[in-house]
Amino acid sequence: MKYGLISDIHANLEALTSVLSDLEKQRVDSIHCLGDVIGYGADPEACLKLIQQTCDTKLLGNHEYAALGLQSVEQFNEAAKAAAEWTQQTLNEDAVAIMADFDLDRALDDMYLVHASPFEPNRWHYVFAAEDAIRGFGQMKQDLGFFGHSHIPMILRERPDTLPHVRAGHTFAADPEGRYLINVGSVGQPRDNDPRACYVVYESDERDIEFHRVEYDIAAAQRKMSKASLPETLISRLSAGI
Ligand code: ZN
Repeated sequence: MKYGLISDIHANLEALTSVLSDLEKQRVDSIHCLGDVIGYGADPEACLKLIQQTCDTKLLGNHEYAALGLQSVEQFNEAAKAAAEWTQQTLNEDAVAIMADFDLDRALDDMYLVHASPFEPNRWHYVFAAEDAIRGFGQMKQDLGFFGHSHIPMILRERPDTLPHVRAGHTFAADPEGRYLINVGSVGQPRDNDPRACYVVYESDERDIEFHRVEYDIAAAQRKMSKASLPETLISRLSAGI
């Protein structure tokens, strides 16, 4: 089976449509979205509808959680808070109903899918470093965990009696004996100094994990954000991928 894994779209319709057409070329069997479809960008509703139509798995991210009123935005930074408030005012009942159907996590074949960490999925812990991954591996029953949240493509491999091994996201064949946590990067707001949209294809027979980067119309996404008066820092970061 060939699975497409996408995360952190952040209401960037230009990035999402480019990734979905690239996924079509990859001939994946199914697409799985790991959360944060909304927040930051200008097209939350269109992105939610497209995710609902195209994805088998639809997970909650912290931005959906906040928009559903399940947590406050007080711990968001200023720009994120302003964007979250704009998003909440923009979303209509249909969009809210789509998000209300999203799951917190999902076990699927040999995969575990979650937005942030397998440890306390609704507390949105970041997994950046080896230390962060230990609790995640401890909580996960499967050998392969796919997640997002930090917008940094990354591979963390569990090791016996020592800290997990951390590498930047790159295409590789997973060791059949190995256990991994894989950050699939961000479709709509990459933060690894590469502004292209990022996603992953997992082929389960060979256990091949491929990271893909896709060019999209960044200027068009930025124009819409300016028109919606979204914070300038969120607009400019798209060109730099930071
Ligand atoms: Zn995010």
